[in-house]
Amino acid sequence: MKFIYPDGKKCALTFSFDDNQAFDIRLIEIFDKYGMKGTFNINSGTLGVTADQNCDGNIYVEPDKVKEVYKDHEVAIHGVEHKFIAGLTDSMIVNEFLDDRRALEALTGKLIQGCAYAFGWHNEHIMGILKTLGIKYARGVDATNGFFPPQDFLDWKPTCHQGDDNLMDLGQQFLSVPGYIELPLMYVWGHSYEFGRSGNWTDIEEFCKMMSGKDFIWYATNMEICEYINATRSLEFSADGKKAYNPTLIEVFFEKDDKVASIKPGEFIEV
Ligand SMILES: [Zn+2]
Repeated sequence: MKFIYPDGKKCALTFSFDDNQAFDIRLIEIFDKYGMKGTFNINSGTLGVTADQNCDGNIYVEPDKVKEVYKDHEVAIHGVEHKFIAGLTDSMIVNEFLDDRRALEALTGKLIQGCAYAFGWHNEHIMGILKTLGIKYARGVDATNGFFPPQDFLDWKPTCHQGDDNLMDLGQQFLSVPGYIELPLMYVWGHSYEFGRSGNWTDIEEFCKMMSGKDFIWYATNMEICEYINATRSLEFSADGKKAYNPTLIEVFFEKDDKVASIKPGEFIEV
């Protein structure tokens, strides 16, 4: 039995972009054009900040536009003020994350349970705090250059950064990803302002174009992938391994005799 993604898709592609600058709007236009799905990690404290209100001249998405701008993608937390949490007390860390959740849930009307660590900084202690705050996954910045899904979703390492020299090569490799990787996943992270400042929007456009329209790829947000893989890991098997029970609310797909099969929520079937 080999797990596969929803509807028999062989692999999954996801993106994660941080810091909610107004360049997100253009990036989302490109994602939507090519059918990509992404997660946007927002510092609620900077929403609505204008160019003359900060020393870098950055322009941020306005709070009342959040719901509309990100409507087809996932919104996740990134800390209210993008603080470097290593220097904070536990209660300050809780506020940094939980207040971001509260603000973003109020703006989107959705359940917000994803996170990207500001500066990528985290350790076991921080992961424990996030778990207590109801966060299901959190992303760091160390690139794996690989396609294995994470063992621990609170220590999710991306495949690569948007500006890595090997982005297109990795994309090519992913299009013919080896079969021994169970639930292969390509994860690209970055900041839309890096395209905006350098003007190299064609880099991401070319990547999306190359990866788009493949019937074997599941284009999904970080949370969709986290929930699905957690569902595969939640299946219960009989002692002889021949029957499986799906105690989750998600249909889990697998390959059996080179055919696509699935276990629906609540089903107990022979596998
Ligand atoms: Zn950031």
